[in-house]
Amino acid sequence: MLKPNFIFKCITDISSEFLHNNNIKGLLLDVDNTMSVAHGNKTLRSGLAEWLSDMKENGIELIVLSNAKTVRARRFGDSVRLSVVGLAAKPLPFGYLKAVKALKLKRREVAIVGDQIFTDVLGGKLAGVKTLLVTDITREEAFSFRVRRKIEDFLLKRWKYER
Ligand SMILES: [Mg+2]
Repeated sequence: MLKPNFIFKCITDISSEFLHNNNIKGLLLDVDNTMSVAHGNKTLRSGLAEWLSDMKENGIELIVLSNAKTVRARRFGDSVRLSVVGLAAKPLPFGYLKAVKALKLKRREVAIVGDQIFTDVLGGKLAGVKTLLVTDITREEAFSFRVRRKIEDFLLKRWKYER
């Protein structure tokens, strides 16, 4: 229930060729630590703008799916010119289903790209979409985050994966 379908170091390592080969036509994109460099930081990962254009040119449908408040999520979406489902309450499946509907695709044709096993991946499983985990993160200070990251590290190790 927690193991992602695929694990990548960084979002920009996901190629359109890989998506075509796996019949993935649309992506639900997490913001913090996935498209941005850290939690609550709006700085984009290097190469992200080029990656987004490449995806669009190759016919991949994109939408932002974030637990951030709608205003912040939308501001981020505007900065990368993507539509947004904010206040998604991941890992609950409702936001995922809304985003899949907005892309006009089937659930099995869509994948979530996110950095958190207990929100992005778990929610993706509950919603019935494919799950792509990215592992290159900036570690958070907050205690609750530190605990979750420790558990994630443990799971990644079990799956024979290093951050
Ligand atoms: Mg995140």
